[in-house]
Amino acid sequence: MNREALTQFLHREEQPAYRYKQALQAFCVEHQSSWESITPWPKALRERAAKAVPWDTLTLRLAQESMKQDAVKFLFACTDGVLIETVLMRHEDKRNTVCISSQAGCPMGCTFCATGAMGLTRNLTADELFEQVVQVARWLDTSSCHVTNVVYMGMGEPMHNYDAVMTSVRMLNEQGGFNLGARHISISTCGITPGIQKLAKEPEQVNLAISLHAAMPDIRTRIMPVNRAYPIDVLMRAVRTYVQKTNRRVMFEYLLLQNINDSEEDAQCLADLLSENPKLYHVNLIKYHDTQVYTASGRDRRTQFLSRLHKRGISATIRQSFGEDILAACGQLACLEPHH
Ligand code: SF4
Repeated sequence: MNREALTQFLHREEQPAYRYKQALQAFCVEHQSSWESITPWPKALRERAAKAVPWDTLTLRLAQESMKQDAVKFLFACTDGVLIETVLMRHEDKRNTVCISSQAGCPMGCTFCATGAMGLTRNLTADELFEQVVQVARWLDTSSCHVTNVVYMGMGEPMHNYDAVMTSVRMLNEQGGFNLGARHISISTCGITPGIQKLAKEPEQVNLAISLHAAMPDIRTRIMPVNRAYPIDVLMRAVRTYVQKTNRRVMFEYLLLQNINDSEEDAQCLADLLSENPKLYHVNLIKYHDTQVYTASGRDRRTQFLSRLHKRGISATIRQSFGEDILAACGQLACLEPHH
């Protein structure tokens, strides 16, 4: 729902302030799907609202479930026809994490990422960010399940759409509204340090994740061009400041690419980088999915990499991979229609 359009409509109609709250209650809390559902409103007002303000800013084109039923990929069309993807990850412990896109496409050009190959179409609005979660919540309602976590790890770089991202965090967080605690929300960046510095000053206690993917500068530059603008030492300085200010844990995401970033030297270099704060730094090792450019590190190499980090006292886990068969896993989002 476009909140600005709703505000203007109610103003034109000279309606009292509580009408706005009633509409948000139906949309954010009850996850209703039309103006018809706001039964406290007079019927004529609902009909005029339906003509003036679209209920949804996103139209669900497709919800594709993985074979293991551990992931669902949602393809949405924005009102201008731009396509975006959102992924629901269903954990064994009953957590339901929604991975949302912050931009349509992405300008960062990471060489292992399907979204990076698309380039940037545009930033998403706060309403479009928030609505990705609301629409997944609607989908989950049909099986009496709830959204428990939100991660800004889908298409795009959240720090390049900072204001809309933070507005959507507040919408998610709103008490009496969607009411999702900030500690259940994570923002992931490829290393835009001004964004990390801004986030450190925010009152909301959201989690920070860094897509690191290599600890050696030349390798990181090769796979993540952002490393030229914000090299690893600059990035780590921003992370240190963030931790000093917030005393919160930082996640480092690390996709394992065979013979690119998965050698013993890579593991030792990563351990050197993170050993300064073994309590608050955690590494998520992520299984890659073969592309024409890179091959995923095999199971043995992944386990070896993990144990090398553990031997150096680094907190690290291999992250469960979701939705490979529906191209919903890390680095695979590209708004492709499925092949039938
Ligand atoms: S990995 Fe993230 S930052 Fe890099 S191109 Fe893909 S979406 Fe953009």
